[in-house]
Amino acid sequence: MASIRDPTAETTRSVMKSLLLLCFALAPLRADDGATSPEPADEARISYEGAQLLKVTAPSEEKEVALRTLQDMEGVDTWLRLATNSSTVDVMVRPENADKVKEFLDGSGLTFDVIIDNLQAAIDTENPTMTTDEMEELEGRKGHRMTWQSYHRLADIYGYLDYLAQTYPQLVTIQTIGNSIEGRPLKVLKISSGRPGSPAIWIDGGIHAREWIAPASVTYIINELIENRDAHGESVKDVDWYILPVVNPDGYEYSHRIDRLWRKNRRGSGYCAGIDLNRNFGYKWGGAGSSREPCKEIFAGSSAFSEPETAALSKFVSSHTGTLKAYVTFHSYGQYILHPWGYAVGYPHDHADLSRVGQKIASAMYQAGGASYKVGGAAATLYPASGGSDDWAKGAAGIKYSYTIELRDRGYFGFILPVQYIIPTGRESLAAVKVLADEIANGR
Ligand SMILES: [Zn+2]
Repeated sequence: MASIRDPTAETTRSVMKSLLLLCFALAPLRADDGATSPEPADEARISYEGAQLLKVTAPSEEKEVALRTLQDMEGVDTWLRLATNSSTVDVMVRPENADKVKEFLDGSGLTFDVIIDNLQAAIDTENPTMTTDEMEELEGRKGHRMTWQSYHRLADIYGYLDYLAQTYPQLVTIQTIGNSIEGRPLKVLKISSGRPGSPAIWIDGGIHAREWIAPASVTYIINELIENRDAHGESVKDVDWYILPVVNPDGYEYSHRIDRLWRKNRRGSGYCAGIDLNRNFGYKWGGAGSSREPCKEIFAGSSAFSEPETAALSKFVSSHTGTLKAYVTFHSYGQYILHPWGYAVGYPHDHADLSRVGQKIASAMYQAGGASYKVGGAAATLYPASGGSDDWAKGAAGIKYSYTIELRDRGYFGFILPVQYIIPTGRESLAAVKVLADEIANGR
């Protein structure tokens, strides 16, 4: 964990005061009918005016009990839970809950920094969008609207995939592997030199809607593997790539249109809508670190693969297990390279290989972009989470190199990562998958 400023008693008090004052600020508006109208007016957008992101630290081991209480407290939105060998959690506090949280922090002996003072202001400046004229100019010149200077809507991402398939028909094909619960296609891009029997890599992003850096990085990888193909060595040409840049397109669009901090898919409607797709996979489904309660952010769904997104992904991957040798799913945030198991502390029999390649990935990412990533078993390094796609890929689909990569940052912008970080994070992501291409192309 990067070091954080130790707040003095005085700054803590002044922060407490500002938290207290914010209690009286406007409460966020929750749209409860977001799913019924396809393109709701702007006023339905949820406001995070006055909400704050706090990095809360336990100064001693016994205070960690207080951190655990805090992260599960009603009215607290935990962005980053307490990880093994860490003594901090990142929590978002809405103004209407500030009083309650202040009281708890006062009595707990925990210290904290206000990392984001007004979340809505951060959201408003995170993603400068292009004007219609600029977009049309770009599309006319390049044939698509993608840039890595902003976070794009699904239509731009899909338009870009279609452009690639049309422009490079010998190299690129698109397959719709199913539809989301709201009927959006799940588009997998295949990049292949066309040599039969080549080993293959699966890459996905955006299973959690608000983690915008993941689809941005995955499309960065796509762009480099196709439009800059000769710059990356032979291994990238020796493997087949199957890439699903947005696993959760409904949630992704919802996070752009209505609620920037939406995580789950869009089954149902209202405050308790949605299933956490990364708790819905059918390997050790329903265990530790998942919930049976629909309102929870980690709701696992009614059964394993109850959701069309996870069902489609698993069906497709299962039909390619003969060639798939690596599975990488991109998330944010925290800067971790995690391998199975996630459902409980423990390791597969080939732990040494997963760890060795994980360390290689970390070095390559550091060299490519400058950020440090921590490597380890998911439950052992972060915390247990059952029903994740990486455990399923390893435990059920039998894909040797299965990783979850938590991209930038370590909780200074969190999910609201400004656009200038897209390219460095994209470079890191590309470096990670190139290590895997090297491994499997050489049959290791
Ligand atoms: Zn995630």
